[in-house]
Amino acid sequence: MSLQEAITEFRGQFRGTVIEPQDAAYDEARKVYNGMIDRRPRLIAMCTDVADVIAAVRMAKANGLRVSIRGGGHNAAGLGVCDDGLVIDLAPIKYVRVDPASRTVLVGGGCKWADVDHATHAFGLAVPSGIISSTGVAGLTLGGGMGHLTRKYGLTIDNLLSVDMVLADGSFVVASAEENADLFWAVRGGGGNFGVVTSFLFEAHPVSTVCAGPMLWNLDDTADVMKWYREFITKAPEEMNGFFAMMTVPPGPPFPTELHLRKMCAIVWCYQGSMEQANTILEPIRSYRPPAFEFFVPMPYPMLQGMFDGIYPTGLQWYWKADFFKELSDAAIEKHIEHGSLLPTWQSAMHLYPVNGKVNRVYEDDTAFSHRDSVWSEVIVGVDPDPANGQKITEWAKRYYDALHPFGTGGAYLNFMMEEGEDRIRATYRGNYARLAAVKEKYHPENFFRVNQNIRPSA
Ligand SMILES: Cc1cc2nc3c(=O)[nH]c(=O)nc-3n(C[C@H](O)[C@H](O)[C@H](O)COP(=O)(O)OP(=O)(O)OC[C@H]3O[C@@H](n4cnc5c(N)ncnc54)[C@H](O)[C@@H]3O)c2cc1C
Repeated sequence: MSLQEAITEFRGQFRGTVIEPQDAAYDEARKVYNGMIDRRPRLIAMCTDVADVIAAVRMAKANGLRVSIRGGGHNAAGLGVCDDGLVIDLAPIKYVRVDPASRTVLVGGGCKWADVDHATHAFGLAVPSGIISSTGVAGLTLGGGMGHLTRKYGLTIDNLLSVDMVLADGSFVVASAEENADLFWAVRGGGGNFGVVTSFLFEAHPVSTVCAGPMLWNLDDTADVMKWYREFITKAPEEMNGFFAMMTVPPGPPFPTELHLRKMCAIVWCYQGSMEQANTILEPIRSYRPPAFEFFVPMPYPMLQGMFDGIYPTGLQWYWKADFFKELSDAAIEKHIEHGSLLPTWQSAMHLYPVNGKVNRVYEDDTAFSHRDSVWSEVIVGVDPDPANGQKITEWAKRYYDALHPFGTGGAYLNFMMEEGEDRIRATYRGNYARLAAVKEKYHPENFFRVNQNIRPSA
């Protein structure tokens, strides 16, 4: 049977939409969030349910097609889409069921975090995720997941109870602490290596209104604020989260016009408690180095989650570099000031996310995510709408990364990496790599799922 005949037969078994290069929807459907990525798959299968995923996996296997799995399409390296192969797109599998009695949330594999936040907020609950609500639940979770609630409740995977998955032979499995425990260990940090996850069951927490928002300082204050921050954030109550940023002030409200497009440093806070308590905790920095501007107010948690969505619409050019750090030395701070003050475009930024608190109380071999002893996860993003600025943002990000990399652990958060080769993936998983490769060997000896930060089967 020719590939075209196989596709015709596949269309008959498939409930969702099948998109080929000649279809009008093709160019829109192959786009991912990063506008720098331009790949041309042979086929895009918009799956409506688990049966569609099984049919798509079997079709790809029978016809020797490479497969990429797309959740929210946000991956920096564009790993949700591939050239010449089959894209298993889960976007139509979109449902969220909150069980307030057990405080659990069942999430379809195509959801974005905005879908989850909307559903859980009605019950005064939240699942720890990231800082941008348009990010896909699937990719963020499978890589680890860090954001505003990390210090108190851990990574997103620390709140994952079970997944439904389709394996390379088209079989369906549940993975949890009780069933297929080796797979459950591997998917908590192992990315898209182990199968297509069609649903996630999470534990949720009582988070409703938070006191949150950015404080901004002039660049001249960066060294003092960073040195204060490095002490503060490792000892602060875990209800207080704050990530550090080298950034440019967005040209719009709530920022005063005189600050628009000024390069500054910032901390974006999220406190789970009262304004009175938050103000007591933050009094030392306000009196030591008063912010040039702050917008720190009580707000519904979904509002915080969506706060930066408008700055980063889909289709911008993105170049990412990342590392984990155990300490933020004076020498590293000097490098941050040097490169952070050269932000090439206003949407470019450097963020330092704290990965301490609850994250550090999980052992490094309890899940595939090994960097439990790190304190910061750094990401440097060169961002701009204009493809003509691609080289400029890429070179800046690489120079910044080169300056800071010697201070890091050698590994980086999987979800902040471009395609950087096997050594970097090994440096990221450290002692967990061999166990991941063994799980891959057991379930996928042919490395069927390989459009990802790839873990090769051990044999
Ligand atoms: C603007 C922006 C902000 C971000 N902020 C944060 C943040 O605050 N915290 C954080 O932790 N991360 C953050 N990220 C990184 C984010 O976690 C990754 O980009 C992640 O890969 C996105 O997931 P996705 O489902 O949207 O990606 P996709 O591009 O759809 O998929 C990425 C990879 O995940 C795998 N995958 C996707 N869906 C499935 C599935 N259902 N089953 C199996 N494998 C699958 C595939 O291997 C795929 O290659 C951010 C990214 C962006 C672009």
